Amino acid sequence: MSISKSHVGGKDNPLMQYVLNHSLREHPVLKSLRLRTMQDSWNFMMVACEQAQFMANLAKLIKAKKVLEIGVYTGYNTLNMALSLPEDGVVVACDISEEYTNIGKPFWKEAGVEHKIDLRIQPALQTLDELLSSGQTETFDFVFIDADKINYDNYYEKSLLLLRKGGIIAIDNVLWCGRVLNPSPNDADTVAIDKLNKKLHRDIRVTLSMLTVGDGLTLAIKL
Ligand code: SAM
Ligand code: CA
Repeated sequence: MSISKSHVGGKDNPLMQYVLNHSLREHPVLKSLRLRTMQDSWNFMMVACEQAQFMANLAKLIKAKKVLEIGVYTGYNTLNMALSLPEDGVVVACDISEEYTNIGKPFWKEAGVEHKIDLRIQPALQTLDELLSSGQTETFDFVFIDADKINYDNYYEKSLLLLRKGGIIAIDNVLWCGRVLNPSPNDADTVAIDKLNKKLHRDIRVTLSMLTVGDGLTLAIKL
């Protein structure tokens, strides 16, 4: 089974394969969506499945009911989260692409959780502003930030307003394949990620962990 894209273990690393073979419990419809996503030319954008499982466990641990996903792609993690939420839970899923998200929709339905997914097709900043102006401040339990990197800081600040105390913001690709070690000034994505990493290190509004799972995952827990 060669399915992880963690560069820490590396998908072809036997030890990483051992980890997956001894810990991954992928819902059959999640597996089908992963295999369908692998047929897409942008499949490298999909979240690592062991990372998705870890985030679902975190969501369960904090008894999450309301999740925000910023950057859906084919909706692997959207489905993963929806499966982990109680019947009255909701994932507000933000993306600009009908093309990508349409790949996931039949799988959300097949898994019987489409009623828990509120997909908003428009720039995520607009959706976050709408959530804030409709009185949803401090109502979200878990946020996954995984869309365009230049907006990461904007997503973080708005997510922090939407998050309840004790809620978790998970920020993906914080290592950006190692490019954060030496960001080129012309590389706007790397500069944005590195800038947010440095800001988060000093941010007293949250407690912090930077994990080396997948392409780097920062967890910020709101105080
Ligand atoms: N979280 C996904 C998963 O579980 O596999 C992967 C998300 S993929 C890395 C990034 C997504 O962000 C793409 O589907 C892209 O269309 C979307 N995106 C890019 N710019 C955006 C924006 N301004 N607002 C919302 N979504 C955006
Ligand atoms: Ca990502």
